[in-house]
Amino acid sequence: MRSVFIILAVLLAGGCAGTPVGRLTLPERNTLVREQLEIHSDFPLSAHHRLFEELTAQRTELCRRLSLPRSDEPIHVYLFENPDRFHKFMRLNHPGFPDRRAFFVETDVRLTVYAQWGDRMAEDLRHEVTHGYLHSVAPNVPLWLDEGIAEYFEVPRGRQGLNRPHLELLAERIERENWQPDLRRLEQLAAAQDMTQDDYAQSWAWVHFLMESRPECLELLRSYLGELRRNGVATPLSVRLATMFARPDAALVEHVRWCSSL
Ligand SMILES: [Zn+2]
Repeated sequence: MRSVFIILAVLLAGGCAGTPVGRLTLPERNTLVREQLEIHSDFPLSAHHRLFEELTAQRTELCRRLSLPRSDEPIHVYLFENPDRFHKFMRLNHPGFPDRRAFFVETDVRLTVYAQWGDRMAEDLRHEVTHGYLHSVAPNVPLWLDEGIAEYFEVPRGRQGLNRPHLELLAERIERENWQPDLRRLEQLAAAQDMTQDDYAQSWAWVHFLMESRPECLELLRSYLGELRRNGVATPLSVRLATMFARPDAALVEHVRWCSSL
């Protein structure tokens, strides 16, 4: 989930009647700093929690695979101890947000992740923190690519980003209804709420194809991100892929079929 340029003034300034309601509900009694991550919670945080180690290792992996530099811009991660408190906080401070388990919020001055402790917290944090790592070094990453990369890196390390639920969804659609991808349509999506589950799956598939099929595809993604970093804009990936493949959509379908046979 990505929400950019949300003004967090309400958090900092407090409620309209002068009562800092938002601030009171933000968990920040304990803070643990791990490289770029500043993790806040009201419950004790183990300095050596395996998850936090995994999140820092994930940064190394992301920067290495995508040829991106490391940033020292802090990413503030707020961990709520239960879903109830998380939802109350989000309803109060971000009433327009959809009902999700975790969020990444970027403003001009701050990168923030909100998440709730629970069974899927590790996956949620890997996803949302990926947005933070990416946004701290590359401007204007298109929504579909931002989500595709996050869906790739939400998978535990060592599994080559193979997101099984997305893979199964797409493989079934290919077999049942001859599903065809459409990267140009994905490139037009500008708002996270416009992305369907199918769009998330397709975004993941394109990223997995770029990162795991051939070395020259990974180079194509790296050069795209490099151009974004240098110029703030870059020739769309659909245009770049068309110079490498006669039918990029057919190549993606083949890739999904190949992944399902693994
Ligand atoms: Zn996301």
